[in-house]
Amino acid sequence: MAATVIDGKAFAAKVRGQVAEHVTRLKEEQGITPGLAVVLVGEDPASQVYVRSKGKMTVEVGMKSVEHKLDADTSEADLLGIIEQLNSDPSIHGILVQLPLPKHLDEDLVINSIAPEKDVDGFHISNVGLLGTGQKSMVPCTPLGCLMMLRDHHGSLSGMDAVVIGRSNIVGKPMAQLLLGDSCTVTIAHSRTKDLADVVRRADIVVAAVGRPEMVPGDWIKPGATVIDVGINRLDAPEKGEGKTRLVGDVDYESCAAVAGAITPVPGGVGPMTIACLLANTLTACCRANGLAEPDGLTA
Ligand code: NAD
Repeated sequence: MAATVIDGKAFAAKVRGQVAEHVTRLKEEQGITPGLAVVLVGEDPASQVYVRSKGKMTVEVGMKSVEHKLDADTSEADLLGIIEQLNSDPSIHGILVQLPLPKHLDEDLVINSIAPEKDVDGFHISNVGLLGTGQKSMVPCTPLGCLMMLRDHHGSLSGMDAVVIGRSNIVGKPMAQLLLGDSCTVTIAHSRTKDLADVVRRADIVVAAVGRPEMVPGDWIKPGATVIDVGINRLDAPEKGEGKTRLVGDVDYESCAAVAGAITPVPGGVGPMTIACLLANTLTACCRANGLAEPDGLTA
């Protein structure tokens, strides 16, 4: 039987709708408007696209959006000064510094200068520690989006065997923590894992976050397993015209969809959930900052 396609685009629209409803209530009942500040250093074209769409969607859900676009040669002291201002600005509840930063800036130092309660990317060392110890934290957006889709599809994840391929700080490791928090038995596979195919074949849930186009074939997938494809890889697509490209994930969609019980497509799977979760995190941060109840179903 063909796999159920988990429609991340539709799910993300639903999450943004829930966020927008909550924002409307916050404004009407409390006179509070959640605010998100995005800081971009330099002119990386992909980062510019991300920042533009983050700003647009922030406004669409009724939040205040602030953008700081800084020159590529901005000094560390100037960048830290801007973050300090945003940390102490009560109208800003979420701060995101777009990565990667230019090489002369110390990424860890910059991220750890964000007030942890405003760190809506969940990369601050305090949030990493809180997540690792099962405490209330800000959760990285991409793994949070994956968790939401898995919970929506399965209900409880308790007792399931999950394999996360990739051990990065922004996807693989927090994803594994979240699955552990939902009582999965978790294996983290990576570039040095032996017999990766055998490891993946044991999984009820496979999360692929590697950055290698279509590296997971269908014969690695246990029949009926759920496959979450985080990868975003751009391949040349001469069939679409000269210079054209197409996006593919880290799993070979056709062969995996023939075996899996459910699968996320690329594009239209995990990608749209990432921005939706950024908005959800900003709302959560705003509620926490004001001592208000957090929105249901939008946190880990
Ligand atoms: P990364 O490069 O930081 O980490 C990749 C991981 O893959 C590493 O831990 C490495 O050990 C592992 N790996 C590399 N080769 C491997 C192999 N042959 N077998 C098994 N493991 C291997 O990447 P990242 O930042 O975690 O991103 C991973 C992918 O997810 C990329 O395609 C990225 O574009 C995508 N991504 C998507 C979103 C989204 O919103 N959908 C967000 C973040 C990242």
